Amino acid sequence: MTKGTASHGRKSGKKTHIHCRRCSGHSFHIHKKRCAKCGYGATPHTRKYNWNKKITA
Ligand SMILES: [Zn+2]
Repeated sequence: MTKGTASHGRKSGKKTHIHCRRCSGHSFHIHKKRCAKCGYGATPHTRKYNWNKKITA
């Protein structure tokens, strides 16, 4: 077992995102102190983007 994804198992233990209290998702970055999903910690409002809006006919 030398070839292939040998060191990928070390990823376990180091978590970057934890449970967000605002969107209840698992997207709150511990070091950056902001949620990647709702923007908690970075913006007082909910994170929104134009490319993420729902298309209404
Ligand atoms: Zn969030």
